[in-house]
Amino acid sequence: MSQLQRITVNPSQLQETQLLLTPQQQHYLLRVLRLRDGDKFIAMDGIGKWWLAQLTGEQGEILELLAVKTELPVSITLMMALPKGNGFDDVIRCCTELGVTCILPILSDRTLLNPSPQKLERWRRIAAEAAEQSERAFVPTILEPVAFSNAINEYKINHRYICEARGDYPHLNQIMNILSGEIIIATGPEGGWTDKEIEIAVTAGFQPVSLGNRILRAVTAPIVAISLIAATCEV
Ligand code: SAH
Repeated sequence: MSQLQRITVNPSQLQETQLLLTPQQQHYLLRVLRLRDGDKFIAMDGIGKWWLAQLTGEQGEILELLAVKTELPVSITLMMALPKGNGFDDVIRCCTELGVTCILPILSDRTLLNPSPQKLERWRRIAAEAAEQSERAFVPTILEPVAFSNAINEYKINHRYICEARGDYPHLNQIMNILSGEIIIATGPEGGWTDKEIEIAVTAGFQPVSLGNRILRAVTAPIVAISLIAATCEV
């Protein structure tokens, strides 16, 4: 099954057992992958469902709904202050592979980058490609960048952590005790969070945590954090 090619489809493309392929998907399946009439592929709707489908002419036909075991039992939102250059691309790719549910790009006091709208499209494409490659049932949601103070006060779930490279904070591994439900984890930019930002986060209910005694790069920290969460809840 894993060798079958996968494409992400919009639920509106499904009409009973017919899968109405877009011209781009037809091009991809027929010309790029060179599938022939009757060849099978997997259609994912990006919100949890996978189907085994078959190419019939230039359209798809749904054969069966598939069971997926590739999603984590927790929903993880990563709030990440935008790093320099194209570093965010790698974070999206890696965190999608690791099972993240939602990524919220943050404009913090020390963020240097103000991304263009094209960036968002690019990030969403990267997430969709990484989700396919990792055989995920979900494509993570990549939200529009928001200011730190707005983001930090918006989500009121129980498990909220902010990673801080310096200071005497408990290790994420020691205090995290989540096996299902939702978790939010925030990581800072190259210059780190300002003291004021940590203060605002704590007031909003975030618990500051350490990821160990070494200072990680801004692009490494989220990957470590998501790996730790996945390792804790996926036993
Ligand atoms: N330049 C800053 C470090 C920034 S590291 C300094 O010298 O203090 C970028 C971000 O990664 C930090 O804001 C934090 O969210 C995260 N991070 C890096 N290392 C970490 C660690 N050991 N523990 C917790 N968070 C860490």
